[in-house]
Amino acid sequence: MSFQSLGLSEALLKAVSKKGYTTPSPIQQKAIPPVLEGKDVLASAQTGTGKTAGFTLPLLHLLSENPKQKFRPIRALILTPTRELAAQVYANVREYSEFLNLRSAVIFGGVNQKPQVATIRSGIDVLVATPGRLLDLQNQGLLSIKRVEIFVLDEADRMLDMGFLRDIQKVITSMPDKRQNLMFSATFSKDIKKLAHGILNHPVQVEATPENTTVEAISQKVYRVAKTKKTGLIIKLISEGNWKQVLVFTRTKHGANRLCEKMVKSGITAAAIHGNKSQGARTKALSGFKSGRLRVLVATDIAARGLDIPLLPHVINFELPNISEDYVHRIGRTGRAGANGKALSLVSADETSYLKNIEKLIGENIEVEVIEGFEPDPNASTEPIKQGQGRQRRNKSRNSNSNNSSGNRRNRTNNKNSRRRNDRRN
Ligand code: AMP
Repeated sequence: MSFQSLGLSEALLKAVSKKGYTTPSPIQQKAIPPVLEGKDVLASAQTGTGKTAGFTLPLLHLLSENPKQKFRPIRALILTPTRELAAQVYANVREYSEFLNLRSAVIFGGVNQKPQVATIRSGIDVLVATPGRLLDLQNQGLLSIKRVEIFVLDEADRMLDMGFLRDIQKVITSMPDKRQNLMFSATFSKDIKKLAHGILNHPVQVEATPENTTVEAISQKVYRVAKTKKTGLIIKLISEGNWKQVLVFTRTKHGANRLCEKMVKSGITAAAIHGNKSQGARTKALSGFKSGRLRVLVATDIAARGLDIPLLPHVINFELPNISEDYVHRIGRTGRAGANGKALSLVSADETSYLKNIEKLIGENIEVEVIEGFEPDPNASTEPIKQGQGRQRRNKSRNSNSNNSSGNRRNRTNNKNSRRRNDRRN
């Protein structure tokens, strides 16, 4: 199948070919036709499947078919859970609309609102936004979504994980009832289905597993190691393997910082990316990592969500996530575009039960290796780590202790405070 056969306009085909895409990915093949027909779509797809082009291309096609309106009201709204994802989706919108007479903007929290407001005032057709900043500007009367024709909810599962349900509901009530809705989610829990039911109107359901990110395509290994020896082991693996581009996951922001500092001390160029870092620092870290200036990017789950890093050769779990699905999300970042990916996990005794659950989920036992000098501690307890309890007590807050979305899944609330905290984190 070709992009031509999907019925996209010449201007879009030109942009797609400029990006170097030759064939639509499975999710694009499945999602583009119903979107072009004006139908609501519920798509099961995660980052790496080409989902962004899957909704952006037909959306731009539809908008450009109708004549632009004089004052350019916002006609398409794309809602994403994190700033990084918003920036990436916006970059895609810009690229795909290069040869169209459409204007777009992105808004997210953590940065000055003035330039965002100025762009919106100048008139835009497509707005990419995170829920917090969108509602903020709306409450200040600085933007209106009353003329939205197409609404996209991207990474709906993460939206709920981060406590954005109320915000999404508010956004919905501010848009016209008659509109086209597209919802993308990597997972489909009961809550997601309920949300979809409330938003979508007789949706066409499409599904795509990531092309080159199936678990089978990735070589996985577990290193059993004493907790205290993890830092030494990871430095040894990266240095001796001479690995050039490694994404490392830690469970906490502090853990990410500590590990990053130790790597830098041992001569490995590294940066940490998490919710306590300024937007500028995160953008700089990501671009340094992509360009090869930094060998290691240490990230927490939420911060890494939606990062567009193609052809990632190595992913290391410095700590295993306690939610097994997060493991699949994490390792799904390697082995893209046909490249062979390696996903390694450093596992200490207290993570034994997490490992078992992960193996149950992926339906296979992961190869285990022990490196001499970095053996596991035979006396260590196999009791699971209490997820961030220390800080929870100190903060007297249920949700503010962790930057790891999974760490608090049980504790999650959908209230406003939770959303605010999450917004700051991301
Ligand atoms: P996404 O799932 O939208 O984050 O896209 C993942 C990556 O695939 C991005 O780097 C896209 O630029 C790239 N991509 C999207 N569609 C295609 C395609 N049809 N052919 C090749 N690469 C693509």
